[in-house]
Amino acid sequence: MRILLASSEVHPYSKTGGLADMVGSLAKTLARAGHRVGVVTPLYAGIRERFPELKQLDLPLDLPLGPRRVRGEVWSLEPMPGLTVYFVDQPAFYERADLYQEEGVDYPDNAERFIFFSKAAAHLALHLDWHPEVLHLHDWQASVATLLIHHQRKQTGEGTTPGICLTIHNLAYQGLFPAAQYALTNLPRDYFTPAGVEFYGQLGCLKAGIVYADVITTVSPRYAREITTEEMGCGLDGLLRLRNSSLVGILNGVDYDVWNTINNPYLKHPYSSADLSGKAANKLELQKEFGLPIDASLPLFGGIGRLAEQKGVEITLGALEEMLTTNMQFVAVGTGAPAFQRAYLDLARRHPAQVSVRIGFDEGLSHRIEGGCDFFVMPSRFEPCGLNQMYGLRYGTIPIVRTTGGLDDTVIDVREDAEKANGIKFIEYSSTALAKSIRKALVLFDQPELLRHFRLNGMSADFSWDRTITQYLQAYQQTLAASRKSNR
Ligand code: ADP
Repeated sequence: MRILLASSEVHPYSKTGGLADMVGSLAKTLARAGHRVGVVTPLYAGIRERFPELKQLDLPLDLPLGPRRVRGEVWSLEPMPGLTVYFVDQPAFYERADLYQEEGVDYPDNAERFIFFSKAAAHLALHLDWHPEVLHLHDWQASVATLLIHHQRKQTGEGTTPGICLTIHNLAYQGLFPAAQYALTNLPRDYFTPAGVEFYGQLGCLKAGIVYADVITTVSPRYAREITTEEMGCGLDGLLRLRNSSLVGILNGVDYDVWNTINNPYLKHPYSSADLSGKAANKLELQKEFGLPIDASLPLFGGIGRLAEQKGVEITLGALEEMLTTNMQFVAVGTGAPAFQRAYLDLARRHPAQVSVRIGFDEGLSHRIEGGCDFFVMPSRFEPCGLNQMYGLRYGTIPIVRTTGGLDDTVIDVREDAEKANGIKFIEYSSTALAKSIRKALVLFDQPELLRHFRLNGMSADFSWDRTITQYLQAYQQTLAASRKSNR
């Protein structure tokens, strides 16, 4: 098959979260399976320096963006046979300190930046000489390409446009902008209606994708069900229920080339399920790195991630306040809302022998936390898929999670299956419920044989992409069939 993916972040070129990991490894796995794959993504600051082998393509961009025209260039890279990454070079839009925001505040021209990106993706889908059959868009930043292709399909008819598959990585981020920004699409006003891209008077970029994509996927089966409910549908549940026959939940895979404990440049001591001594050594290294007392007998809990309300920062802070009366340690790396950053730093200041946090984005440290901790805390309010708990499992670090979305789909609690148990789950979104789970973890920590049983169960869980890819290929077939139907 010939598939073009479009995403505002792709590992290893750019990353703020799981989206980058998912797109990077999906592309690699598809190419490895023999498909022709492209990925369109912005050329952010620093990429050119880190990947000097980038080549400029003879594919200049000169696209309308509201009243003006915006030019750009396309640079490409072939990290492996069958895979080409296309970087959209528009320095005024993408050469910035960060991807979407600074100090917790979105860039004011994000509508321009990502509608332009969507236009570039649609342009490449229509003009690349290898004629992609499927355009696979990710999240709101690429979603407007759905509408552009839909419009093109109406103008030019069958067979002229690729099928569109949209993956929702997080329904809470919808790309909502004032109605006036619709003009940036340069499309007829007809689409700006409640049945189209209007969302309560605003332009809804993700909504454009949901209305017009041939097939919609999301990143876990449970989240696919959750987003069709009023409680978790972020105002789009009615529309998603309408599109239910085109909505599929596919659990993200893990790139075990990157996320493994044996061949990992970030881990000082390699280890495997056959010999966990390296894990014990990594724990001591981690305690040292965080400036905490170095002591194997202290249970070490860890957290990694965006410091956003979604991730359960409030209940983590509350549960820690309660549980730090015990002999536990907690380390974390994260970045996000300034108030949460301050709260974590304040907790560390008040408990210097037990809590240590790093504010910032540090990929190596995220591997060392997964590798060195005994338990990984991920109490999200909602979680479309979540990758960190899956990384934790592979690293023998027992996840403590809330029963939501992908967390529920990937972690097995002892109450579900004592033999296969690999983590601790709780239901209620509260500090008390999380503290209770931490207490269970402490009990587990005191039973070395049972602890080992949990760790080994986690390490043997298989979320490899080779298994997941079949489901994406099915979704692409469904996309092609649906696009033919809509062309008629
Ligand atoms: P989300 O996509 O909602 O942010 P996921 O758990 O699906 O959450 O994926 C998060 C990814 O981003 C993981 O690879 C995680 O290690 C990484 N990550 C998040 N925050 C940081 C950080 N501050 N430093 C390093 N890696 C981070």
